Amino acid sequence: MMKAAVVHAYDRPLAIEEVPIPRPGPEQVLVRIEASGLCHTDIHAARGEWPVKPALPFIPGHEGVGVVEELGAGNRHGLEVGMRVALPWLGYACGDCRYCNSGWETLCPSQVNTGYGMNGGFAEYAVGFARHVVRVPDDVDPRDAAPLTCAGVTTYKAVKVSEAGPSSLIAVFGAGGLGHMAIQYARTIGGSVVAVDVNGARLETAKELGAEHLVNAAEEDPIAAIQRLGGADAAISTAVTPKAFEQALGSLARGGTLVCVGLPAQNDLVVPIFQTVLGGLTVRGSIVGTHHELEEVFELHRRGHTRVLRAQRPLDDVNEAFAEVLDGSAPAPRMVFDLQHEVSTPAEGRASTLESA
Ligand code: NAD
Ligand code: ZN
Ligand code: ZN
Repeated sequence: MMKAAVVHAYDRPLAIEEVPIPRPGPEQVLVRIEASGLCHTDIHAARGEWPVKPALPFIPGHEGVGVVEELGAGNRHGLEVGMRVALPWLGYACGDCRYCNSGWETLCPSQVNTGYGMNGGFAEYAVGFARHVVRVPDDVDPRDAAPLTCAGVTTYKAVKVSEAGPSSLIAVFGAGGLGHMAIQYARTIGGSVVAVDVNGARLETAKELGAEHLVNAAEEDPIAAIQRLGGADAAISTAVTPKAFEQALGSLARGGTLVCVGLPAQNDLVVPIFQTVLGGLTVRGSIVGTHHELEEVFELHRRGHTRVLRAQRPLDDVNEAFAEVLDGSAPAPRMVFDLQHEVSTPAEGRASTLESA
């Protein structure tokens, strides 16, 4: 048996339960989870907030990192017992469709998502498909690798598709788990960053990570503030409210691109046609990143280009951790369930709660 955080109803807290350890099927691996990041998607999933809801009951989590303990029959896809791997959102893709065969497996219509369509990493063990789990370099701390597995690769991809370059002004709306990584990839490509959030603590961490301009959208109008800077060449919205997306669109310079990344429960975005046409604006969506892009994200981290600002919690505190993300009191941009050490970092005193590589 193993400990797991299980969703039984969209309107109830998660239950910490003893459930059977899953068995790896053909071309699958059993992973002993060391660390598991808490993405806001897990909160949307547990609350059934999206148009397509996960079937109940299920175990959320798509930032699980751990060690391969057992391999199922058939193709091992290069994996061996003892290797450290990450179990990303793209749990399975068909490998045969036009998307899978053109470097866009993230758009595969037959995909199955970890912690949504199949059980995820909020547990002591999880099963993944050998072809889709991603090797974690030995010198990357599993507690860093966890948030990189979704927040990292998603924003790495978002910066890429924004087509921003070394002299671009890049606006990052929402400086939480995803946003704090977006800022760093934007800086890595040489961009200048304006970070927008409604939470002062997140703006402080944004500054620490190299954002040159900070806008507290609860206190000032981000559109006016960013237009004063000349407008953003790219705006990446990771915020969890449509209003932030509309402000991100309004903050663009002519020819600019809005990359929609956040997935708020309220699903409607107003795009003014006149301004979009006259301004030559682009609005696009971006969903996670590929297997190879996650390898690139791990490599960038190994080489010191990124820091993961995280606070650890035991899995038993899953409901408290959800509440801390929702009310903005989380002591770091990303919460990570530490299944190896089962330590809890104190809620106050940033110096003791923020760890980075
Ligand atoms: P998070 O809660 O860590 O971060 C969201 C941030 O937005 C917080 O810092 C919050 O203070 C800020 N915010 C709230 N209202 C705002 C406003 N009006 N203006 C500016 N900032 C505001 O969440 P996260 O884990 O970073 O996830 C963010 C969103 O991205 C979620 O909806 C999640 O489901 C989605 N997501 C999408 C993908 C993808 O591939 N597209 C991948 C992962 C997560
Ligand atoms: Zn995620
Ligand atoms: Zn496919």
